[in-house]
Amino acid sequence: MAEKKNTSIACTVNNCSYHAQTENYCTLSKIQVGTHESDPTKVECTDCQSFKYKM
Ligand code: SF4
Repeated sequence: MAEKKNTSIACTVNNCSYHAQTENYCTLSKIQVGTHESDPTKVECTDCQSFKYKM
């Protein structure tokens, strides 16, 4: 089942239910990016807050 990929949102997190699976893209039209840090300084400080675990 090929979900429609959004080529503007590249993503390699394939255990997310919104991942296109066959290719490294998100299928959402828009995502929310945020941080879990009070003073983010590195890429590791940022998160895709639209992530949803694929069961
Ligand atoms: S919602 Fe976020 S983590 Fe999930 S596929 Fe889209 S960009 Fe990746």
